[in-house]
Amino acid sequence: MLSFIFGATIGSFLNVCIGRIPNGESIIRPRSHCVRCQSPIAFYDNIPLISYLVLRGRCRTCGERISSRYFLVELLMGILTIALYYRFGLGFEFFVGFVFVGAMIVISFIDLNVRIVPDVISLPGILLGLVFSIIGYFINAGSFSLIPSPLSSLIGILVGGGFLLATAWIYERITGVEGMGGGDIKLLAMIGAFLGWPSIPVTLFFASLVGSVVGLTCMLLTGAGRRLALPFAPFLCSGAVLFIFFGEELIQLYLFPN
Ligand SMILES: [Zn+2]
Repeated sequence: MLSFIFGATIGSFLNVCIGRIPNGESIIRPRSHCVRCQSPIAFYDNIPLISYLVLRGRCRTCGERISSRYFLVELLMGILTIALYYRFGLGFEFFVGFVFVGAMIVISFIDLNVRIVPDVISLPGILLGLVFSIIGYFINAGSFSLIPSPLSSLIGILVGGGFLLATAWIYERITGVEGMGGGDIKLLAMIGAFLGWPSIPVTLFFASLVGSVVGLTCMLLTGAGRRLALPFAPFLCSGAVLFIFFGEELIQLYLFPN
């Protein structure tokens, strides 16, 4: 329960990041305010999840609808924090997983909102993933299941970046259309840095699985054709998060049976 509350509270901060990073605004100042009437949000109206329900998703001052994204992100981060806690206990692995999952949520929702994978997250993310793997190596070499070896992290960056770069190049050559954005390439490199190179094929597998299901559902619901342009980053992010919880089992079962 405590981990849920902690996660939802950080989810509240992630919402601020999602709203402000694309505009290049500071994520620390000013305090949260309503997008319409600019009135600052009081601390008692800023309680994760609960305030949204109490206010029924509206600004207390002007009644402007507050995006359900705020509620969704807090709930998602709360649930994933519980899941991380049960999987890894409380320690360095939990911390790394928490930072990574938070970044995945922010990137996904920014891409959904404005179709950009922000470099200010993915580029430092690549470096941070590598640094965490080095710290993990010195703390507890080889016995973490989440944190890869520094070598695996480094190969992950190269494979993650390289794979999409090659795909994008081939796609462009064949169709003459620019396919995958550069942001997705840096994102996959960041995933490789945090989770090690074996995470790349598994993440792509999960991403295409989630992508097909969501894509088909959207096509059926909206009647839009094959040209429906879905942002790709949320699928990569979901794939990476699924890898954290199910990747090892999948690798052992199917990809590298021994
Ligand atoms: Zn307002």
